[in-house]
Amino acid sequence: MTTNNDSGALPGQLSVLHIEDNNLDAELVAKALRKGGFSISVAVVQNEADFEREIRLHPPDVVLADYNLPQWKGMEALEVLKREALDIPLILVSGALGDVTAVECIKRGATDYVLKDSLARLPEAIRRALQEKHLLRLRRRAEEDLAKKAVELARSNADLEQFAYIASHDLQEPLRMVAAYTQLIAERYRGKLDENADKFIGYACEGALRMQTLINDLLAFSRIGRTGVKAGRVNCDAAMAEVLLNLGPAIRDCGATVSYAPLPEVLADSSQMSQVFQNLIGNAIKFRGKEPPEILVQAEKAGQDWLFTVSDNGIGIAPESAENIFVAFQRLHTRTEYPGNGIGLSICKKIIERNGGKIWVESGMSKGSSFKFTLPIHPFAEKDSRDEEGPALPDPQVSIERSF
Ligand code: ADP
Repeated sequence: MTTNNDSGALPGQLSVLHIEDNNLDAELVAKALRKGGFSISVAVVQNEADFEREIRLHPPDVVLADYNLPQWKGMEALEVLKREALDIPLILVSGALGDVTAVECIKRGATDYVLKDSLARLPEAIRRALQEKHLLRLRRRAEEDLAKKAVELARSNADLEQFAYIASHDLQEPLRMVAAYTQLIAERYRGKLDENADKFIGYACEGALRMQTLINDLLAFSRIGRTGVKAGRVNCDAAMAEVLLNLGPAIRDCGATVSYAPLPEVLADSSQMSQVFQNLIGNAIKFRGKEPPEILVQAEKAGQDWLFTVSDNGIGIAPESAENIFVAFQRLHTRTEYPGNGIGLSICKKIIERNGGKIWVESGMSKGSSFKFTLPIHPFAEKDSRDEEGPALPDPQVSIERSF
C-alpha cells in the first residue's frame, strides 16, 4: 500500500495518525511538527477499533503513539500494522519512558521514541524514519530485481545447456557417417587420384576426427549435472590414488613427481572429483617446463571451506589469461604446441561450482601455476581427528605421505 511519502522526498504534506488520549498533548505535537517545517493533516484516535478503521481508510505516513492510554497501549498498534501488512513507521511519543522500556519497544518494532518534554526532536525523528523506510524499500526492490535476474540467468543457462546437449548428442550420428566414409575414401583411393586429392582427403579425415573429439568433449561438458549430482562422501585420498594410477604412464614418461598431503573427505560425486584431480594433474604434466614436473596437491581449512591447491613448476599462465582458461574451448596454445581442446578446466569449473565451490588459478609466466578450488566443509569432516590435532596441513616435509 502506498502512502504520501513513498518517494522519500522530504514531505510537503505529512499525514499523521496520532494515538493520544490527551487533547492538549495532541495539540502540542501538531504545533511541534508545524514548527519543524511540516504541513500536516492529523487524525487522533484513542483505541484499537478507531485505529484499525483509520489505518484502513487513510493509511498515514507515520503513526505517533502514546505509550500508555486508559483503554489501550500504543505499542499494540504495531500488531495492527503487521496484521494489515502496512509498512508505516511508528514513533512513540510519551511522557516518560525508561531507557530499558524504550530499548524493548525499539526491539519490538517501534522506529523511534521521543519524550513529550523534547518535542522539538520530533520533526527530525520523523524525517529520519521516512528516509529509512525509503532506503529499505529501495534495498528490497534491488534485492527482488537481483533475485529475478538470478532466476532468469539460471533458466537461460539451463536452456543453453539443454541446447548444447541436444546439439552435441544429435550431431554425433551424422558425424560418425562423415568420419567413416571419408576414412573409407582415404583407404580406397589413396594414391589412385592425383597428389592434391590425397591431401584434400587427408584434410577431410582430420577435420572429421577433430570435430568428433570436439563434439564428444562438448557432450561430456553438457552431461555434467544432467543426471543430478550423485553426492556422497568422497575420500579425496582415494580419488587421488585412482587418478595417479590412470596417469601412471604419463607420469613415468616425463619423470614427474606428484606428492599429496593427506586430503579431506568432501561431499561430492566421486567420479567427478577424480575428474577434477585428473584434469588438473594431467594439465600440470602437459604444460610442463624444461624441468621434470613437480606437482603438489594439498588441502587446508579456510573458513567454512576446504581450500585445495594443485601446484606445479610448469610454464605458468599470464595473469591476463587467468579467467579465460576456464571458458570452454579457450586455449592459450595451438594444438601442435600442446594437444587438447580446451574443455578440461571448464569441466572442473562446472563440477566445483555445482558442489558449492569456486576455482581459480594463481600464476605468472614461467613461475608455475597453482590451481585452487574450494569445497564446503561437511559436518562429517568435523569428526576427522586431524581437526583436533591443529592445522590441517602442518609442515609439508612431514605431512606429505605419498609421492609418485
Ligand atoms: P586443454 O588442456 O585441452 O588445453 P584446459 O581447459 O584443460 O584445456 O586448459 C585450458 C588452457 O589453460 C590450456 O590450453 C593452457 O593454456 C592453460 N593451462 C591449463 N593448465 C595449465 C597449467 N598447469 N600450466 C599452464 N597452463 C595451463
